[in-house]
Amino acid sequence: MRIDVVTIFPSYFTPLGESLIGRAITEGRLAVGIHDLRQWTDDPHRTVDDAPYGGGPGMLMTPVPWGRALDETLLLRPPPAAGSVLVIPTPSGRRFTQGDAENLVSTGHVVIACGRYEGIDARVAEHYRARAEATAGAEHPEAARLRVAEVSLCDAVLAGGEVAALAIIEAAARLLPGVLGNADSPREDSFGPVWDGLVEGPSYTRPEQWRGLTVPAVLRSGDHGAITRWRRAQAQARTRIMRPDLLRTAPGDDPGEPGAQAP
Ligand code: SAM
Repeated sequence: MRIDVVTIFPSYFTPLGESLIGRAITEGRLAVGIHDLRQWTDDPHRTVDDAPYGGGPGMLMTPVPWGRALDETLLLRPPPAAGSVLVIPTPSGRRFTQGDAENLVSTGHVVIACGRYEGIDARVAEHYRARAEATAGAEHPEAARLRVAEVSLCDAVLAGGEVAALAIIEAAARLLPGVLGNADSPREDSFGPVWDGLVEGPSYTRPEQWRGLTVPAVLRSGDHGAITRWRRAQAQARTRIMRPDLLRTAPGDDPGEPGAQAP
């Protein structure tokens, strides 16, 4: 899998050299390219922003360097057979999910466009969505090779797309074969098939007693059937309290906003 990130703060991505993802890169399971958007500017100040039409606070990222950057980073030679996804993190996007992370892994190539200021001129997403739609399903050499996903990391506004990009990379890369010590872990994590897409219930390790709190007896019973039933009930109870929205969303539901292609 290859991930290219376009940003005005390349040094944000230094932590990718650490831990599981660092090892995945060293072992050749994951290739990451970090690109400075300013290399695609052509004025002496390497300007990437301008005032918004219609007024309003702050500055917007101008589409000109973005078009050059994305044309170059998306058009890999040779093109990956499984296609490319352009991911545009934005608080106004569709919520990024575990299913999205899985879809990214099955795609050969991901490009992440990190916005700053008040975001990226809307024509950038519009342009690449139109390009993706024009080729999807057609007998065109680029057919189905490009998808565009505007995704939100959380219902809060960050200062830039870099933290969202790091989170998206980590969520996808840990699913690559050989990255996790136990290949079954994601099945048993929150949102995994073991819990039918719900969040995981509480987990415990030694010591059995800690500050007056005791590990539930059923987990120490050795009765695997009872443990499975207890864990399932705990997952449902925790989901009801923490994430009732997950109980309302049937697996595979597509929120279906216009232009919100799944990664
Ligand atoms: N004016 C934009 C809005 O209200 O939707 C917010 C722009 S935000 C300050 C600047 C950049 O941070 C965005 O272009 C995006 O790249 C990133 N960003 C901020 N919050 C995000 C979130 N919740 N999810 C993903 N990206 C986010």
